[in-house]
Amino acid sequence: MRPFLPEERLGSLLALLGHWGEVYGPVTTGDGVTAFRPVSDPGQLRLEYRRTLIPPKRFLLPPRETILTYSPDAGYQPLDTAQPALVLFGLHPCDLQGIAYLDRVFLEGVVDTSYRRNRQALTIIGLSCEPDEFCFCGAAGADLPAGCDLFLQRTPAGFFVTAGTMKGEEICDRSAQLFTLRQPAGTTPWHHPLADAICRGCAAGETFPDNPLWDRFAERCLGCGACSACCPTCYCYDVLEQGGLDGQAAERLREWDNCLFKSHGEVAGGVNFRRSRRERLQYRFLHKYYGFGALRGVISCVGCGRCRAVCPVEIDLAALFEGEDHDRQ
Ligand code: SF4
Ligand code: SF4
Repeated sequence: MRPFLPEERLGSLLALLGHWGEVYGPVTTGDGVTAFRPVSDPGQLRLEYRRTLIPPKRFLLPPRETILTYSPDAGYQPLDTAQPALVLFGLHPCDLQGIAYLDRVFLEGVVDTSYRRNRQALTIIGLSCEPDEFCFCGAAGADLPAGCDLFLQRTPAGFFVTAGTMKGEEICDRSAQLFTLRQPAGTTPWHHPLADAICRGCAAGETFPDNPLWDRFAERCLGCGACSACCPTCYCYDVLEQGGLDGQAAERLREWDNCLFKSHGEVAGGVNFRRSRRERLQYRFLHKYYGFGALRGVISCVGCGRCRAVCPVEIDLAALFEGEDHDRQ
């Protein structure tokens, strides 16, 4: 028997979660896109959503943030203001894996203090999902994906609840009066065959150097960078100094960069490591599937399907593993 939250008590759980911070969940915005926004009423939530346009990495790595301040007296100083506490409600297993991946990058070894400050402000509530034609993750169907404090397995009548951290256990304790006990029917982990093909390809060190798909993709890629901006694990950034109008105070800013942009590979002396679109596409692909894998034993694509869904010319790099360009145009 497991704790079960009946659907009609979801509003009570949202109210209770307010104790841990302002609650953000998946909603449809006025622009018609799905995004995480403040919610107070379960009627605002789009629990059946597949993916948000911008992944939850924006709460950990905002598109632009101040990471240091400068004054002539104190020099460079880290920000000492705490981030407001937020509860992210309804993250799918792919996005939870994405956060677990970013945690490895920014919290293991040399700790990124800005990321840690943002991460510590979050309470994360996961939600099971139904994959669509763009998804190819290997984690859907898991009872408790990594990276969340609490995970809700959705059923037609409500949610099986599993705590993943001590904070999750505390949330369960405080909301125990909302739960009943039910026998789970047993879920079968959903594993996309493409996720298996990618694992096999990566294990074999397959880098597709001569695949003609590279040329076909490079011919039609617009270099817009949407595939990277919407990726939950892409974290390339640029660092800028911004002086104040008084000529004294200044800030050091971090903002998203994008390896699909030509400027990303520029270095001093007019040299560019990746002048051609083919090189830039290959760079992104090889970093996703091989660069991180060799270092940490996991690939950095979580199969969320965003890059497949948003590319305006329907480039699907995962097609390299399938051996054909689906060419959905
Ligand atoms: S590479 Fe594409 S499918 Fe993989 S995590 Fe990034 S956006 Fe999702
Ligand atoms: S979204 Fe498509 S067109 Fe835009 S940079 Fe990525 S692969 Fe190229």
